Amino acid sequence: MRRLPGENLNVLIEPTGREPVVLKVTDDSQIDVDLEEAVMSHLRGGGPPVPDSLPTRDGVDRVSCDLEGVASTGRLQRFLAGTPWREASTSASLLESIGRTVGTVHRCLADFSHPSASRTHQWDLATAWNHRGTPCPEADHRRMLEMGFHLAAAIAWPLLPGCPMGMLHGDANDENILVADGEVVGLLDFSDCLQGALVQDLAITLAYALQQDGITLETVAPLVGGYESVRSLEPDEQTVLFPLAVLRLVTSACVGLQRRAHDPGHGTWYSHEETTWRTLARLIDVPPEQARRLIFGESNPPGDARTIAAERTHRLAPSLSLSYREPLHITRGRGAYLHEADGRPFLDLVNNVCHVGHCHPRVVEAIASQAAELNTNSRYLHENITRYAGRLVATLPDPLEVCFFVNSGSEANELALRLARAATGSEDVLVIDGAYHGNTGNCIAMSPYKFNGPGGHGPPPWVHVVPMPDRYRGECRDAEAGAGYALEVGRVIGEACAKGRSIAGFFAETMLSCGGQVPLPDGYLAGAFEHVRRAGGVCVADEVQVGFGRVGDAFWGFELAGVVPDIVVMGKPIGNGHPLGAVVTTRAIADAFDTGMEFFSTFGGNPVSCACGLAVLDVIEEEGLQERARVLGGRFLEGLAGLKQAHELVGDVRGRGLFLGIELVRNRETLEPAADEATAVVNAMKDRGVLLSTDGPLHNVIKIKPPLVVDAAAIDMTVRLLDDVLQDVSASS
Ligand code: PMP
Repeated sequence: MRRLPGENLNVLIEPTGREPVVLKVTDDSQIDVDLEEAVMSHLRGGGPPVPDSLPTRDGVDRVSCDLEGVASTGRLQRFLAGTPWREASTSASLLESIGRTVGTVHRCLADFSHPSASRTHQWDLATAWNHRGTPCPEADHRRMLEMGFHLAAAIAWPLLPGCPMGMLHGDANDENILVADGEVVGLLDFSDCLQGALVQDLAITLAYALQQDGITLETVAPLVGGYESVRSLEPDEQTVLFPLAVLRLVTSACVGLQRRAHDPGHGTWYSHEETTWRTLARLIDVPPEQARRLIFGESNPPGDARTIAAERTHRLAPSLSLSYREPLHITRGRGAYLHEADGRPFLDLVNNVCHVGHCHPRVVEAIASQAAELNTNSRYLHENITRYAGRLVATLPDPLEVCFFVNSGSEANELALRLARAATGSEDVLVIDGAYHGNTGNCIAMSPYKFNGPGGHGPPPWVHVVPMPDRYRGECRDAEAGAGYALEVGRVIGEACAKGRSIAGFFAETMLSCGGQVPLPDGYLAGAFEHVRRAGGVCVADEVQVGFGRVGDAFWGFELAGVVPDIVVMGKPIGNGHPLGAVVTTRAIADAFDTGMEFFSTFGGNPVSCACGLAVLDVIEEEGLQERARVLGGRFLEGLAGLKQAHELVGDVRGRGLFLGIELVRNRETLEPAADEATAVVNAMKDRGVLLSTDGPLHNVIKIKPPLVVDAAAIDMTVRLLDDVLQDVSASS
């Protein structure tokens, strides 16, 4: 008797003068053993050779036994001759034969069913997320595992449910495939069989093919060729094949890590450990689309990102910049992910425009079907505009009830300025230091972020800047900061009035965005509004960045402060990327604006835009996105607080809901800004597949404002990755 290699307890018995048999002992449940036997029995009619099951001398096909205190089952199988694939050399024709074998298994099991077939287990790629976050001592290994799960989450898992399903072998690896003379002669070990997407099986085989000497993405095409000689893969299956193969390697690595923690000396557990990590290191940074083309024997087209960049420089104004040192060429968006042309996915944590997720099917459908029906201007009766106005107003407190529709946040602020001036007869406005309100002439004049920045010429006489109510870095940092900064508003109004100017309005974001992700201190808006109104001005809440449920505890940012503005400005998330902006105000202000001069926007409030806006509101409501922002924002902030404890570089973490900021400082006493470090963190995170960016007047705040459909796993991954990246950046600065 001799134990056979592999993880299972299989003993080869070679009785003299009789044919060899294999004794298999397992602690799997009876129903699982039953499933395994049923699959093998099914394959005996037309599948690849599998071992015959043999009865005992007593004529039974299973015996119960006790194996070191564990209730187990023993079975006998006829020994199947052949060399395990991993001990053979892997030629193209062997790869083809292996692919064909896997295809034949699927074809043969197409009509198979069993009550236990829909099970899952730790090797099931469809549920491999259970291994995410497996403790791993080496930073580079951690990076590879995170990237593998990231590829699965962004590419594979969303597509798997739509891929053809069937009964899988579940572990067609290089120990379970027997070969002779460059051909498959047997398939063993059905103990991992389960129902799932058929492509999972091929991905597992691919993961082992790529661990063989001399087999690379460039030479592995015969494997899929062999499979497709039996069954063609659908486009989605082609897309998920590579990420799933990586996921198999990641799963093996994670199970290995879990086992090492449990029993580091185990004799049969670590046979693939070295090749798993080595193969992972080779594959993990290959762009998925490039890998797909290689696996399917297609040639890679020349990269067009450079051509586009050159054309851009030639055709577009030089004042328009690109994000990142190496600009991204994004061609697709889904949910919280953006996908580069080469298939590389990025978790998008900065785009607060695609609020309900990139290309949300509901929003896409609303735009497309209305565009196919009618799109015209708002001088005709159409119920979309009235329905939409009604729905928007329903989200706002009284007396905010009259809507204007425009095409951007800038236009909305521009209109808000006209409304404020019409309502008050005054000209001047107050703005918060560091603010950005838009790209039009007047909006630039109201944006310290621009007029005090490069190329800026300071504010015009009608604009008065109040200090940023920043409790971390500003003048007032204590519990009374809100009242303190509100007094500053009063002071600036006083100075303006002393110069003979009078105030039309106060423009305030209800959490500061370009200012550096700054929540307003308690009591600030209430106090500031009081000063403004006493001076005869109106209060404008710029909700372009933070509105529509992002702050979690409320639908609008101003609600967090317990105030009601006179004018609310909306943009960005309102159309999930469709150009749409709105201003909602009181009846009195709207009437004051009705001077005889018509207000008209050619595109504002068109039926397509309104259909889009309605769909966005529907999705926020039906998918519970405000509550999601509250819960996930809390989880994120908690994770960031942990990073602050662990890294001196993290001076402050702050925000509400899914509008968060991390301020980096070189010294926690002097608050010396760590702008280069913030840029380094953002670039390192991009290399790990996560998009972030910096903001704030000192460029040292990392801003986080993802689509609200981001999930907890992506947030946890981000926190883990930030932990490693902050460590690296701290060490090298
Ligand atoms: N207000 C705020 C607070 C903004 O962040 C922006 C855009 N960044 C705008 C207004 C202007 O919006 P848009 O770019 O749609 O004109």
